Amino acid sequence: MSSRSSSPSILSDNDSDLSSSLSEDVPEIIEGEFIPYDENLEPVATQEEAAAFEENSVREEEERVMFQRRFAGEVETNTWCKCSQCSTEAVTKAEEYVCCKEIDRVGEVMSQVDLEDQCITLHPGFRDVCLNRWVLEIASLALKTKAGKSYRTLFSQGLKSESE
Ligand SMILES: [Zn+2]
Ligand SMILES: [Zn+2]
Repeated sequence: MSSRSSSPSILSDNDSDLSSSLSEDVPEIIEGEFIPYDENLEPVATQEEAAAFEENSVREEEERVMFQRRFAGEVETNTWCKCSQCSTEAVTKAEEYVCCKEIDRVGEVMSQVDLEDQCITLHPGFRDVCLNRWVLEIASLALKTKAGKSYRTLFSQGLKSESE
């Protein structure tokens, strides 16, 4: 390439230099290379993916039924609570009828502090992290409801009470 103009302006009088560098960088568009969107070209799930999806749907439905039975009082709390701390006094939704021992991540967290057999509420950080209003307010900034709404928006619109 010939010498570049030192001027930062592209309106330099060295036009031939500019146009030659442009034609080098921009690939030529070949007619017919881009075809319009065709939904038949969407990737189809493999058999394994379809089976995994089906399995997941079945498990979710089983869980939903299980929580619903607990919610309806068809099964006693002590039959599903393995941490012996669960209380249904303040819960309002079926999916809240879950024992901390049913959540895999809870086991991992509790074993880090050598309290494998204990309830998550006995974790040394539980009070500060899970019950402090200001900590929860900050944490809610990064969270969305299942419907994709931000908690902050719901609070400010008064659509969600603090107890929820
Ligand atoms: Zn429990
Ligand atoms: Zn528990």
